[in-house]
Amino acid sequence: MKKNMHGLLAGLIVGVLGLQALPAAASPDYPPAIWNPAASCNYSARTAAISHVTVHTTQGSYAGSISWFQNCQAGVSAHYVVRSSDGQVTQMVRETDKAWHVGNSNGYTIGIEHEGYINAPATWYTSAMYNASAALTRDILASRGLSQKVFDGSGGWNAVPSDSVYNVKGHVNFASQSHTDPGSGWDWPRYKALVAGGTGGGGGSDAGLTWPLVQYGATGERVRTIQYLLQQWGYSLTVNGSFDTATQNAVKNFQTSQGLGADGAVGNATWPALTVVTQQGDSGAKVRAVQSQLNESGYGLTVDGIFGAGTNTAVRSFQSSKGLGVDGIVGDNTWSKMAW
Ligand SMILES: [Zn+2]
Repeated sequence: MKKNMHGLLAGLIVGVLGLQALPAAASPDYPPAIWNPAASCNYSARTAAISHVTVHTTQGSYAGSISWFQNCQAGVSAHYVVRSSDGQVTQMVRETDKAWHVGNSNGYTIGIEHEGYINAPATWYTSAMYNASAALTRDILASRGLSQKVFDGSGGWNAVPSDSVYNVKGHVNFASQSHTDPGSGWDWPRYKALVAGGTGGGGGSDAGLTWPLVQYGATGERVRTIQYLLQQWGYSLTVNGSFDTATQNAVKNFQTSQGLGADGAVGNATWPALTVVTQQGDSGAKVRAVQSQLNESGYGLTVDGIFGAGTNTAVRSFQSSKGLGVDGIVGDNTWSKMAW
């Protein structure tokens, strides 16, 4: 009897191990993902065309979120869940079905949950997760012929811009939401560059970059760049190339808003927060910053704040001259080279 019990137990163990050894089911919509469906009580049929992607934070573990979406008590779901440690992607709801993740906007969005907590972005928002998620978003947009209009953080991490302006934004950025994910620590300019295919070249972000320290009393083009970028973030100040008291105060306010030490000086911590990915089709103060900087290098552009073909050609020429990846996208690497 005892022996039989052991035999039964051994059989069970072999059965479980055998199950685990089976290859994971393939995702119906995105081949790199694992298919592990949510409970059908947690989603419904779609009634509108897909036009937007919603970025979420799980506020829990990857495995915990997957099992929650398989529990009918949840009453919520997402199409995809991305793991922090290595960027593994699990699909749980078919894109043709309506996952329940962003209230009134469920009908036209695809939801991507990212493992982690909004209060600990440095711990959870890894390069592996950014890269995997951006590749997924790129695929979602490309497979429907949708243009890339990724939120860049303009107006603040919790801004609620119109759906017509951006088609990829955070849960907090959709109308009538009570959630604040993915929080202030999600790097939107980086995500935008990664969706565009940036890999650390001109458009990418590089934590190892060094930037000039610019502070009260400084003058010149890099001060103008800082002033233009502050305008881009909504601060009203005059672009005069002089790091005056008004500029210092705006820098301090910006630093406070970003959770940085408010010392009023722009160095290695503040530059990458201040710069915004800028590319053809963009307009406004960030484009003036690019144009004015390029003129400092002799490009003779009209500083009109409109990123057209001429500015694109100049950016590419500048990137080539500095040994950067030539993609015409002004990301941190290009901003840094211009600032020096
Ligand atoms: Zn959310």
